Amino acid sequence: MKVDYIIVGLGLAGLAFAEELINANKTFLVFEDHSQTSSLVACGVYNPVVLRKFTAVWNGASQLNVAMSLYGALEKKLGQKFDDKFLIKRVFKSIEEQNNWFSASDKPLLQQFLNPNIETKKKSGILGDFGFGTVNKTGRIDTLKLVSAYRNYLKRNNWIRFEKFEHAKLVPAAENIRYQDIECKHIVFCEGFGIKENPFFNYLPLAAAKGELMTIHAPNLNIDFLLKAAVFVIPLGDDKYKVGATFNHEDKSAAPSAAGKLELEDKLKKVLTTPYEVIEQFAGIRPTTNDRRPFVGLHKEYARFAILNGLGTRGVLIAPTMAKALFLRIEKGIPLDEAADIDRFH
Ligand SMILES: Cc1cc2nc3c(=O)[nH]c(=O)nc-3n(C[C@H](O)[C@H](O)[C@H](O)COP(=O)(O)OP(=O)(O)OC[C@H]3O[C@@H](n4cnc5c(N)ncnc54)[C@H](O)[C@@H]3O)c2cc1C
Repeated sequence: MKVDYIIVGLGLAGLAFAEELINANKTFLVFEDHSQTSSLVACGVYNPVVLRKFTAVWNGASQLNVAMSLYGALEKKLGQKFDDKFLIKRVFKSIEEQNNWFSASDKPLLQQFLNPNIETKKKSGILGDFGFGTVNKTGRIDTLKLVSAYRNYLKRNNWIRFEKFEHAKLVPAAENIRYQDIECKHIVFCEGFGIKENPFFNYLPLAAAKGELMTIHAPNLNIDFLLKAAVFVIPLGDDKYKVGATFNHEDKSAAPSAAGKLELEDKLKKVLTTPYEVIEQFAGIRPTTNDRRPFVGLHKEYARFAILNGLGTRGVLIAPTMAKALFLRIEKGIPLDEAADIDRFH
């Protein structure tokens, strides 16, 4: 079988790259072995503002445009709704934070996102003596629904094999790459934390941070915005909310833990006064990087091997832009942004 590309991994990175290929009429085959869960458990929030420091996310505004265009097109193509738009309300901890917010809302990169008016009216069931700041143009992609629907779409077209890609069986050559019965021109590794088993790219310093979340039922909360305090509380409808997420750099298992639940419940006590019940708990490993920039680019020795990884805590926002850039790098030789290019490690 001959294809233009093999993609290893179908999370948010693999999905965004596959769409680039389809739009350019390239042929491809995806391998997916269900070993990682990050894209399936993610909260899916897109938000171009760093809510800890009230600064702009790296290239956030332009990434948001590219991302909205991709997810909008996928809603049409797959005939399902994935995007739930809402406002984010950041709970202030002090007068100083209110002042910082006000100054930030005047900065050119943040003006369109941060509402300068500080809400001081108390909200029932929510703790907070210093009011709230509102972020516009945000929302959540239902990544579980999107990735599942996309895998089914690939399956219907025979564009995906649900099996482990075994790197040892890969035969690189100057012209074409061989893997099992397949001959292809390029291979793009989108393996998330699975990169650790990839002998061609596991020299890259992926940091990885386990994240745990829970779904709660809180019948008296009644909010239709994302509440950001010590944790996120995200409305899902039917009085259900997603609460998250933890950051753990030691535990590399993707299983939910008792310690994770305890941490989330402890933090939730500082946010909500209304009763709730925990319904479900999830966990996954975020493919994070120490310099907070993704890992995109070509292998130094095998130029037909490419990587799209290190999407960190913002895969929803950043994957579409990086997939586009990588495709242009491979097909047209257009240089990548140096901050994202894996050449920075050579
Ligand atoms: C708890 C939590 C909350 C999060 N919340 C958000 C959020 O609100 N907003 C946001 O933007 N991001 C969020 N993230 C981060 C986001 O999930 C990641 O940035 C993104 O999912 C990474 O996508 P990926 O495709 O690179 O990796 P992954 O999702 O890990 O996908 C890699 C895929 O490759 C497959 N694979 C790996 N090795 C092989 C192999 N050898 N053969 C075949 N298949 C293989 C895996 O099974 C997997 O499906 C969150 C993450 C977690 C864990």
